[in-house]
Amino acid sequence: YLMVEQASSADEGKLQQTLWGNLLLSGVVTLGILVIANLTLGRYQRRIEQMAATDKLTGMISRQVFETTFEHLVAQARRQQQNVSVILFDIDLFKQVNDHFGHNVGDMVIRKVAQTMLATVRQSDVVCRWGGEEFLIVLPGCKLAAAQELAERIRRTMACEQDAVVGTITLALGVGAWQPGECSSTLLRRTDQALYRAKALGRNRVVVAPAAHRTVSVGSNARA
Ligand code: GH3
Ligand code: MG
Ligand code: MG
Repeated sequence: YLMVEQASSADEGKLQQTLWGNLLLSGVVTLGILVIANLTLGRYQRRIEQMAATDKLTGMISRQVFETTFEHLVAQARRQQQNVSVILFDIDLFKQVNDHFGHNVGDMVIRKVAQTMLATVRQSDVVCRWGGEEFLIVLPGCKLAAAQELAERIRRTMACEQDAVVGTITLALGVGAWQPGECSSTLLRRTDQALYRAKALGRNRVVVAPAAHRTVSVGSNARA
C-alpha cells in the first residue's frame, strides 16, 4: 500500500470556493428563470381562458360557458322544483345596419343593445351573446308571465330610443318557460321557434312559446 497525503494549497482552496460560488449562483439564476417562466405562462393561460370565456365585443360570457351554466340552472330547477324562464332575442334587420353604416356602426349597435339589456335584467339573471346579433337571457326562479313582462320592457326600451346614427333599433323576442321533465335543449328549441314567429309576424314584438305537448304512452289495454 502506498499512502500519500497532500495538504491543499491556499490557491486550491480559493478555486474550490469559486466553484461553489459559481454553482450557487447558477442555481439561483436557474430558479429565478423557472419562477419567471411559470408566472408568465400562468398569466398567459389565464388570459387565454378569459378570452375563451368572454365575448370580446360585449364582455358577456361566451356561449361555451353559458351552455354549461344553463344546463346547471335547469338541473337545479328540476331538483328544487323551481321556475326558470328564458328570453332569446335578435336585432331586426341588422344586416341593413351593416350595409348602410358599416361594420363598426353595426358593432356599436350590438354593444348598445347589450348595455340596454344588462341595465334591465337582474344581477341573478344569466346573459350571453348567443350568436352574431342574438342574445339569450336565463331567468332563474322566474315564471313565464314575469319573463314576458321583462321581454316587453327590453323591446319597448330599445324601440323608444333614438340612436344618433342609425335611428330606431328594434328587436324580436321569444320567451319560454321550462316545463318539468324538459331538457335545456328542448326549451331552447321552443323559445327559438317563438323568436322565429316574432320575425314572421313583422318583428319588433314578443312571442311566447306555447307549452310543449307531452307524449303519452298508450298501452295495449287502452287500445282494446
Ligand atoms: P332579421 O330581422 O330577420 O333578423 O334580419 P337580419 O338582417 O338581422 O338577419 P341576418 O341574419 O340576415 O343578418 C345578421 C347579420 O349580422 C349578418 C352578419 O354579417 C351580421 N353580424 C354578425 N355578427 C356581427 C358582428 O359581430 N358585428 C357586426 N357588425 N355584424 C355582425
Ligand atoms: Mg337579426
Ligand atoms: Mg340573427
